Amino acid sequence: MKYRNYIFDLYGTLIDIHTDEEQPQLWEFLADYLKVNFGTVYDAVRLREDYLKICRDEEKRLGERNGSRYPEIKIEWVFGKLIGKPCTDDEMRLLCNAFREKSRDKLVKYDGVTKTLSAIKRAGGRVFLLSNAQRLFTEKELETTGLIQYFDDIFISSDLGIKKPDKDFMLALIGKHGLKKEECVMVGNEVLADVGVASAAGVDAIYLNTYDHTQEEIERDLELCHADADRVTILEDWDKAFGLMTKNYLN
Ligand SMILES: [Mg+2]
Repeated sequence: MKYRNYIFDLYGTLIDIHTDEEQPQLWEFLADYLKVNFGTVYDAVRLREDYLKICRDEEKRLGERNGSRYPEIKIEWVFGKLIGKPCTDDEMRLLCNAFREKSRDKLVKYDGVTKTLSAIKRAGGRVFLLSNAQRLFTEKELETTGLIQYFDDIFISSDLGIKKPDKDFMLALIGKHGLKKEECVMVGNEVLADVGVASAAGVDAIYLNTYDHTQEEIERDLELCHADADRVTILEDWDKAFGLMTKNYLN
């Protein structure tokens, strides 16, 4: 086996998802939810403006605190401020799930994901998740899609306060499990975040072009993140990924 440790991005890589946080109905829904459940009254337009402002402020403050160029806040800090009074963990989880479900209109695994992950596990490889995401949004989606069973460990950026392409995010995973970098490969659909974090950490990468980017766009971004072309494999879809991972990497 060329690689023993497969570190996957989630959205756009394993899960095909679509969310829209700009739709007015979402903010009307949230205003109603806050009023009914917490007695907090907001106009929907103002609610969205305040949400975005708190996100920006919290991100700036966190970046100053932890020194990362790529800080990742916890979304519950933002909702907590909007509610304006203490709430329980269960109440916060329900709120996050409701908001996410309302904003989301697509959530499916890509064809080929299940058989590839199964093949890796059967061959004795290890599977990790390294996702730029909010734990309170993502946990339920990992359960719903049945992916949670495949992971040896799950790293979500909101837990650590930093996100890809900050190399410390990947190094935290590598360090925790004592992985050898030459036995790891990062698989993801965003050049700057996924290939970028792998390049910064000194790990090989597989770029999966699920969003149909042009060759020019891919090359431009590879250059932007100073990727070593010899250490990046570009694949068009999961059929190719399955073929490569099971034929080349697992034998
Ligand atoms: Mg992605």
